[in-house]
Amino acid sequence: MIKLIKKVKVFSPKPLGVLDVLIADGRIAGLNTEIDGLDYDGVEVIDGRGKVLIPGFIDGHVHILGGGGEGGYRTRTPELMLSDLILGGVSTVVGCLGTDGISRSMESLVAKAYALREEGASAYIYTGSYRLPLQTLTGSVQRDLILIDPIIGVGEIAISDHRSSVPLVSELARVAADARVGGILSGKCGLVNIHLGDGKSGLGLIQSVLDQSDIPKTQFLPTHTNRNQTIYNKALEYALSGGYIDFTTSTVPQFIEEGEVPAAEAYVRGLEKGVSPNHMTFTSDGQGSLPRFDDKGILQGLDVGKVTSLYETFISLIEKHGLAMELALIPFTQAPAERLNLKRKGSIAIGMDGDFLLLDQGTYAISDVFFRGTQMMKDGNLVKSGTFERI
Ligand code: ZN
Repeated sequence: MIKLIKKVKVFSPKPLGVLDVLIADGRIAGLNTEIDGLDYDGVEVIDGRGKVLIPGFIDGHVHILGGGGEGGYRTRTPELMLSDLILGGVSTVVGCLGTDGISRSMESLVAKAYALREEGASAYIYTGSYRLPLQTLTGSVQRDLILIDPIIGVGEIAISDHRSSVPLVSELARVAADARVGGILSGKCGLVNIHLGDGKSGLGLIQSVLDQSDIPKTQFLPTHTNRNQTIYNKALEYALSGGYIDFTTSTVPQFIEEGEVPAAEAYVRGLEKGVSPNHMTFTSDGQGSLPRFDDKGILQGLDVGKVTSLYETFISLIEKHGLAMELALIPFTQAPAERLNLKRKGSIAIGMDGDFLLLDQGTYAISDVFFRGTQMMKDGNLVKSGTFERI
């Protein structure tokens, strides 16, 4: 199916002006001020006037199988549904296990990634869970990366957290080395996604691995780096010295009251300090539990992270913080595509996958969503949904 979107204002994230955008075979096939001569059956023409076209969001840290369980079995959170991605404008997702690598397995995670792919999304996963030694699918990080298509990296490995496995420097270094070689051999990112807890050691373990090995900083992507002011300040220093950092957008008011830096603010302050926008990304931690512990570590309650928090953060960057569209888009699109080495994702250009959103020009509300050229939302209404969802 060929689609031609006429006269739409395009951000690649760079502003490209008002263009006609041609989509063929799931990819962007043409971008020009005027594309004519396609007036025949089989070409769907979409009026893009009054709309803004942006790349689909990339969410690099989602508990697609559900997560949590930190208050007992009934607190295990539910699986991600396709509609969660569509409503949040997330065309590419990276799934991971979390605290629980026992009742949720790598086998199930791979199957869920394939399910989301069958339903139209672009889905990848990390191998492992919070814990080291790592529980992989095939017995080794390198085998997982080289032999299993959706596996692109390792994570989320917990450090500096009372729920971590208290990993040793040598353990983390070995995993990062294996991820690096596995990534090189498979052409994947081989990224090591690190869950940073509230613990006193902060980024210390990553720094020790960097100091004691030849592994480059680019191998690590610490997340939840906005979880408190101390970790946030350290994370900015880390980013200024060449590291990459990730901010979590799912939150609850209590976390903010207790000192979490709101994700949008974290990015804006990072820019003000001189951190490159390409060194900062956002992920939602969608479907993860948001547990609230008291000062003795006793669980007080919990909520569920939402993939849609990514879009809410984007809107906050535009409306509350007044960022230009290009700067607001980079950490949701171009920067994660580079980090995850997803070469056909994260920008609008000829040959890229047809993953894009149409926003209403005045409100920036999501009106239309396309995953690899297939329309998933039209005029604000879902036109596709998951296998067991009803629309
Ligand atoms: Zn986490």
